[in-house]
Amino acid sequence: MRGVSESATLRLNALVAEMKKQGQEIFNFTAGEPDFFVPEAAKQAVREALTANASKYTPVAGIPELRAQVAEKTNRAQPKLVKRWSAQDVVITNGGKQAIFNTFLALLKPGERVLIPAPYWLSYPSMVQLCGGVPVIIPTDPAHGYKLQPEQLRQALLAQQHAPANGRSVKMLILNSPNNPTGAVYSAQEFQALVQVLESQPFVELGRKLWVLSDEIYDRIVFPPAVFCSFLAAAPQWREQTITINGMSKSAAMTGWRIGWSVAPQRLTESLVILQGQSTSGINSLAQWASVAALKLPEESFQGQKDSYLERRNQMVGYLAGLSGGGTRVVIPEGAFYLFLDIKAYLAPQETASDLAEKLLTQCGVAVVPGGIFGAPDSIRLSFATNEATLKGGCLRLVDFLKKSAT
Ligand code: PLP
Repeated sequence: MRGVSESATLRLNALVAEMKKQGQEIFNFTAGEPDFFVPEAAKQAVREALTANASKYTPVAGIPELRAQVAEKTNRAQPKLVKRWSAQDVVITNGGKQAIFNTFLALLKPGERVLIPAPYWLSYPSMVQLCGGVPVIIPTDPAHGYKLQPEQLRQALLAQQHAPANGRSVKMLILNSPNNPTGAVYSAQEFQALVQVLESQPFVELGRKLWVLSDEIYDRIVFPPAVFCSFLAAAPQWREQTITINGMSKSAAMTGWRIGWSVAPQRLTESLVILQGQSTSGINSLAQWASVAALKLPEESFQGQKDSYLERRNQMVGYLAGLSGGGTRVVIPEGAFYLFLDIKAYLAPQETASDLAEKLLTQCGVAVVPGGIFGAPDSIRLSFATNEATLKGGCLRLVDFLKKSAT
């Protein structure tokens, strides 16, 4: 536990709460969840499940109806798989978070390394550590849209091959597209270029043993012309070495229902089921029935949400345009609902993004998440899952503040 960091945002959250209590106006860009309501069909399914007394323990891996829906959804996203997924390959978990944690716990031997491109979703490194593994962070560059470049992957693998700590080598690579916190979306070609590295000399042998964890939890929130590509749609030959993570939190605005899942080859899924059976057991029955209903909804029923995210993404990018030329590159997010901003040019010597975030909050009433927790200490994350008044008022204050601090 000593090696695992506590959430660095607690102090800021406490400040926000205190300022709100004092009646101060806060432009809050910290939301990590959609601002839509749960689909009506999901609510109706809960009412029906209640009436039908669907309130007993559920099977450890999930109710068969939901596992089947998830297998079908995953097969649609991964059309080139020779061996299709079936309900048996799915484990329903307490949010995507538990699926990721279970995977690390099942797979990692002490000291084994996990490659994590940064900026990353904050829980990956801590979870790896909690499960005895060692996170190996590979920083990506705003100039490349925060996407892992094949050469960077090659260099990281070479470094690990030459110096495997504890004699343990690399076990897993984490890919997250669309990405939290950067909104980066990988194309099929970009995934294929990474896979090419893993399949070429001198990594052929390592590549055969390596696992890819593909976190696709923001799959529905992608802005044209970008399109969502599941990792196994680009690299179907990796089926036996890939865990696909997804869930209802972001795509159906069901964060509080805690439904996520893994889709993985049988040899891993068997372990995941044992692990879950001895820890949390099957997931809340009503939430599972709600998810069955939400997964049956046609894609068009989410068009309004998608349009709204796109509209707000564009608004935020427009308001921040004033920063371009001031040493900051505004990387336009292609998916999810976050914009990641490199503010290095605005930091005083010795100042961190956390210091700047605190000043932003206390002096301008603008709340942002400092990038340190995502492995990018010179940046801040802004969520555009918020109302238009906040987008406008908050972004203008932010731009004004940054410009002043640069002079
Ligand atoms: N993966 C990513 C990239 C996320 O941003 C989140 C939540 O913020 C999760 C996984 C976990 O989602 P949940 O446990 O709510 O399903």
